[in-house]
Amino acid sequence: ATAQIGVTGLAVMGRNLARNLARHGYAVAVHNRSAERTDALVREFGDEGVFVPARTPAELVAALQRPRRVLLMVQAGAPTDAVIEEFAPLLEPGDILVDGGNAHFADTRRREAKLRERGIHFVGTGVSGGEEGALHGPSMMPGGSKEAYEALAPLFQDIAAKAPDGTPTVTHIGPDGAGHFVKMVHNGIEYSDMQLIGEAYDLLRQAAGYEPARIAEIFREWNRGRLGSYLIEITAEVLAHTDAATGRPFVDIVADRAGQKGTGRWTVQTALDLGTPVTGIAEAVFARAVSGHTRLREAARALPGPDRPELHPDDAARFAEQVEQALYASKVVAYAQGWHMIQAASEEYGWGIDPAAVAAIWRAGSIVRAGFLDRITAAYRANPDLPGLLADEGFAREAGAAQAAWRTVVSTAVRDGVPVPGFSSALAYYDSLRAERLPAALIQGQRDFFGAHTYRRTDREGSYHTLWATPDRPETRTE
Ligand code: NDP
Repeated sequence: ATAQIGVTGLAVMGRNLARNLARHGYAVAVHNRSAERTDALVREFGDEGVFVPARTPAELVAALQRPRRVLLMVQAGAPTDAVIEEFAPLLEPGDILVDGGNAHFADTRRREAKLRERGIHFVGTGVSGGEEGALHGPSMMPGGSKEAYEALAPLFQDIAAKAPDGTPTVTHIGPDGAGHFVKMVHNGIEYSDMQLIGEAYDLLRQAAGYEPARIAEIFREWNRGRLGSYLIEITAEVLAHTDAATGRPFVDIVADRAGQKGTGRWTVQTALDLGTPVTGIAEAVFARAVSGHTRLREAARALPGPDRPELHPDDAARFAEQVEQALYASKVVAYAQGWHMIQAASEEYGWGIDPAAVAAIWRAGSIVRAGFLDRITAAYRANPDLPGLLADEGFAREAGAAQAAWRTVVSTAVRDGVPVPGFSSALAYYDSLRAERLPAALIQGQRDFFGAHTYRRTDREGSYHTLWATPDRPETRTE
C-alpha cells in the first residue's frame, strides 16, 4: 500500500481535488465507476504527481496506507449512499470516509451514525469554490469526529486556499453533519448576497438610468471599498462584458430566469424548522423562483406601474452612493441572519461551532470571500457570546449610519416600481430588531381570543388567559 489518500468519483470536482492533492506531494489512489475518467486523469495529468489508478473499490482500498482515507466526490443523494455501501464493507475500524459532495446535513448525520457503529469515521465535508477552487484551493468545512479531522488536517491544510494572512481556509466545524450544515448556510448567504447585488444593479439601471458599462465602473469602485469581494468583482466583469454576436451588453441578452440547484432552498427549509429568520435568503430563493415563472410573468406584464421620474445627473450620482449604503447594510443583515442560523443549529445539535472560525475559513477559496469576513471574525472573537452580528458595536454603528440612505433607496424603489425584496426585507428585519414594541403583543391577544393560547404579561410572571366570551372579560392565571 503506497497511497496516502484515495479519491473516488473523478468528475470535475474529484479530478481537481485529486490533482490538488498530488500537486502537494501526496500519492493519490484514484477510482471512478466508469474507468474512462480514471484513465483520462492519469493520461492528462499523470505528470503532476503520483496517481495510483484503481479499477475497483477493492483495488482503491488495497492501495491505501492505514488508517485509510477515502474521499468520495460523487453525485449527492442516492449515488452517495450507493458508493458508501460499496466502500464500507472494505474498510476497517479507524478508517476514514470523507464525503466532499453537496450532501444534505441530515443525510450526513444519518450516514455518520450508521458508519460509527462499524467503527468507521465519516466526515461530511463542505467544499466551496467550484471547479477552480478544487484545483487551486477550496474553502473546506469538515464535520465528523475530532479524531478523524486530526488525521485529515495536514492534507486538508495543504490543499485548502490560503487567507490573506496565510492561514489555510479549513477548520474542524463540529461533529457529524456540522460541516455540511455550514456549507449549506454558506450557499444560502451566497444566494442572498447575489440577490442584493442584483437589486443594486437594477436600481442603478432603472431608477438612476445608468447603462451596464457605467454600472460596471461603479461596482469596480465599490470593490475597492468595504464591499470589496469576489462577488462584487465578478459582477463588474459580467456587466462590462459585451455580447460578441450582437454587440449588446451581455446582461441584456441573457434570459432573466435564474437557476438553482437546491442548497438555498434547503437553507430556508431548515431555517423554518429551527425558527431562525433568514428572510434575506428566503427572498433570494423566492426571487429566483419568480424569475422562472415565465407564463405568469407574461400574463401579468400589462399590470400598471408608476411613472418613473427622470433623474438629474447630480441626483443619480447621489442615489448611487445611497445604493452603496443600502447594499452594505443589507449585506450585514444577510450575514447576521446566516450566523444566527448557524448558532441556533449548533445549540440544537450540540455542535459547539465557533462562529469566528466559520468567517475565517470563508476568506479565501469560497464564493463569498471578502475582506468583510475579517470583521465578523473580530466581532465574535471580541465577544463570543454576541447574540447576533447586529449586536456588535461596529456593525450596529455602520448599519445605523446607513439607515437613512437605506430608507431612501427602498422608498425610491417602491415609488419607481423596482422590486427590491432583499433590500426591503433586510430593512424590515433591522426595524424589527430595534423596535421597542412589536405587534406580536396584538397577535398574542388574537391567539388567546380564538384559541385560548394564553399570553404572558409585561408586568408580572405567569401565563394568563382572558375569558373573552364572558361579558366583563375577566383574566385567569393558567400557570
Ligand atoms: P457530479 O455531481 O456530476 O457527479 C458525477 C460523479 O459521480 C461521476 O464520477 C460519476 O461516475 C459518479 N457517480 C454518479 N452516480 C454514481 C453511482 N451510483 N455510483 C458510483 N459513482 C457514481 O460531479 P461533480 O464533480 O460536479 O460533483 C461531485 C460532488 O461535489 C457532488 O456531490 C456535487 O454536488 C459536489 N460539488 C460540486 C461543485 C461544483 O462546482 N460542481 C462544488 C462543490 C461541490 P461516472 O463517471 O461513472 O458517471
